[in-house]
Amino acid sequence: MRLRNIPGADEVIRNCDWVIKEPADKKGKWNTVFGNENPIHIEVGMGKGQFITEMAKRNPQINYIGIERYTSVLLRAVQKREQLPTEEALPNLLYLCIDASELPEIFAKDEVAKIYLNFSDPWPKDRHARRRLPSKEFLARYDQILVPDGKVEFKTDNCGLFDFALEQREIAGWNLDGCTFDLHHDENMNEGNVMTEYEEKFSSMGNPIYKMIISR
Ligand code: SAM
Repeated sequence: MRLRNIPGADEVIRNCDWVIKEPADKKGKWNTVFGNENPIHIEVGMGKGQFITEMAKRNPQINYIGIERYTSVLLRAVQKREQLPTEEALPNLLYLCIDASELPEIFAKDEVAKIYLNFSDPWPKDRHARRRLPSKEFLARYDQILVPDGKVEFKTDNCGLFDFALEQREIAGWNLDGCTFDLHHDENMNEGNVMTEYEEKFSSMGNPIYKMIISR
């Protein structure tokens, strides 16, 4: 998703306290940023933030960090959050405006308990395969920041990207802890599912949603 450049988005994001600046300075110290020892879950390629906002509301005992590389997209998440009533202040939700390739510079080993990849960009050309967020190159980065039993959860409606992700996890030697080719009709895997913006859009068009859960 790349929204047209929104005038003023950079400045809003620069001045927003929920978006952590110079995040590499926080490496190994993220629990002090949240002020507690709760586990940290991140969503890589957050988009407009519907999924992670709802997760943060449902799970106050987990710290969430939404990662999005474009200020124009992150702006939408910040604007929606500003409209929440004060009692839903969500002290457990922060954002980073970075490219996911920087993750190992920002989080220390064992600092992240779970990584969500939701409807990641497919990068259909073969020569761009390493840019796909479930690629073995990205799995190696996730491995550098996850706790030993940490998990990556990936959802998409893109069959080719899902096949690629399954193949990449095998090449990279990750365990397949869960897999469905029709999430919304899979009672076990769908329990507690929170829909993303893309998930709502594509499932309403009748597309099945694929999901896998993997760990090292
Ligand atoms: N996760 C949301 C959803 O399911 O509705 C948004 C999906 S959208 C197709 C993918 C988002 O990931 C875009 O907003 C894009 O800017 C972001 N993104 C893609 N590659 C990224 C990267 N390497 N680092 C950070 N964000 C990325």
